[in-house]
Amino acid sequence: MKSLEGKVAIVTGSARGIGFGIAKVLAEKGASVVISDVREDAAKEAAEELKASGANAVAIACDVSKLEDAEKLFQGTLDAFGKLDILVNNAGINKDMMAHKMTEDAWNAVINVNLTGVYHCIRAVLPYMRERNYGRIINISSAGWQGNIGQANYAAAKAGVIGLTKTIAKENAKKGITCNAICPGFIETTMTTSIPEKAWNIMVSKIPMGYVGKPEDVGKTIAFLASDEASYVTAEVWNVGGGMVL
Ligand code: NAP
Repeated sequence: MKSLEGKVAIVTGSARGIGFGIAKVLAEKGASVVISDVREDAAKEAAEELKASGANAVAIACDVSKLEDAEKLFQGTLDAFGKLDILVNNAGINKDMMAHKMTEDAWNAVINVNLTGVYHCIRAVLPYMRERNYGRIINISSAGWQGNIGQANYAAAKAGVIGLTKTIAKENAKKGITCNAICPGFIETTMTTSIPEKAWNIMVSKIPMGYVGKPEDVGKTIAFLASDEASYVTAEVWNVGGGMVL
């Protein structure tokens, strides 16, 4: 039997990039997957691609920065699959600039999606998970939570995700709910391939394994944390970055 057979998972921001890689791996392990993204057309296209490979998938649009969207995502999941077991908070953006030049808009946009968005989705599903005495929540932070030049907004949001993760884990530990965070290192997606070649080379030089990770590398770790084999793992922060040290 596959490790996630019979489970239902939501992956936010999963029309492309790491989110799509996570959704693909969870589906390969037997889960029914909700592909959710801010752009409905992109989410539908990604869900069709998964379905073509035999997966059980639906698309539900959600801008995680809006609580009402997160609530609709949860309700839409129950309507589609009758239950929810796994929530992966992956949606994220970056608007990099030095802190002394940062605009209020750039600060707010990144905090609203990368931190408040994670809270919104957790808030939408937690009462249900607590009532069922079961749940797996996995939040995508970043190796950048430790601080990275040009990323004050991003680092603050991703550090916040770690504090949020540990709190949710502790508050719900006796309710059969685990909550863990993943810190991807440098993973090949449009978020990273858009950076200048010089910066790319610097980042690669910081990876002891010597190569850039794939979205599926993150997905495989999440599949373990989402499985019943990880039932005693909570409040943890796992690096998936080939040993990368910022
Ligand atoms: P990506 O390729 O830019 O994909 C992000 C996805 O999230 C896109 O589909 C995007 O939609 C969607 N999104 C943006 N704003 C959203 C919102 N408000 N609500 C719902 N979805 C939204 O990024 P990625 O590299 O896969 O990153 C995924 C996650 O991993 C992020 O949290 C990121 O911070 C984290 N991470 C990435 C790396 C890396 O090396 N790539 C490293 C560490 C952490 P659009 O297409 O409309 O923009």
